[in-house]
Amino acid sequence: MKIVTTIADVRATVKAWRQAGETVGFVPTMGFLHEGHASLISRAVAENDHVVVSTFVNPTQFGPTEDLDAYPRDEARDAALCESIGADIMFRPDPAEMYDNPKVSVVVKDMNEHLCGLSRPIHFHGVCTVVTKLFNIVTPDTAYFGEKDAQQLAIIRKMVADLNMPLKIVGCPIVREADGLAKSSRNTYLSPAEREAALCLSRSIFYGRDHIAVGMAAKELETAMEDIIVKEPLAKIEYVKVVDALTMDDVTIIDRPVLVAMAVYIGKTRLIDNFSFDPNVSKQ
Ligand code: AMP
Repeated sequence: MKIVTTIADVRATVKAWRQAGETVGFVPTMGFLHEGHASLISRAVAENDHVVVSTFVNPTQFGPTEDLDAYPRDEARDAALCESIGADIMFRPDPAEMYDNPKVSVVVKDMNEHLCGLSRPIHFHGVCTVVTKLFNIVTPDTAYFGEKDAQQLAIIRKMVADLNMPLKIVGCPIVREADGLAKSSRNTYLSPAEREAALCLSRSIFYGRDHIAVGMAAKELETAMEDIIVKEPLAKIEYVKVVDALTMDDVTIIDRPVLVAMAVYIGKTRLIDNFSFDPNVSKQ
């Protein structure tokens, strides 16, 4: 496996694969890889001739008061994991390689104005812009995203459809720790007491998953899920919301495919979790 830092090098390698008629899978990440990322890379390796993983910590998706500088990084460990799974390239450009006084931003309207977009108003513009750039650099046949970031996945799907981007988007299930906590690079910020407290997110998610029903009032479910989190003194709810799975708009009655999502602070660490529910698919 090659660690590549320049756009030109990625392009040259992908060009050779293309000339040989081989397929390319792509997994965009911000590095500090864990089993959640590994599940995406494994799927990409299984479904493509070649796989590119990017580990670029994208500055434009962090707000001015967010954790860009503190965001955990470990290039050697990331490279070892990518190699062990069978990726061909780990693309880790410097910010200067990706951005030169940029004037263009990709914005998916409206879907941004819900859930995480309310407290992170520039976040999805940064995500959509860097993902568009990465798609233009890697030119994948298929790109893999986690359902852990369900709003991001919905926005990327809409961006790809609206802009006729010539690739397929695959969503992959949330990978959790044995005790239920969704795996996240940000879990490393948690003290032992906070790590224990963070289990209130998955407790609430599992409760919601077990109790959601067609025809139920969204507010009733949100309140019951919030009640589980407020019992935890270290937790502070940013939102617990039921929204339309495609548009991210609020719903009143659960009568269509929905996303049930939350953002909760445990101490200073902001964690997210979610599940999806489709009334047309019977519960497992
Ligand atoms: P990040 O490095 O946090 O930007 O995540 C890169 C990709 O990995 C995104 O598509 C995430 O949704 C996905 N991802 C992160 N954590 C998980 C997880 N626990 N399970 C599945 N996918 C995940």
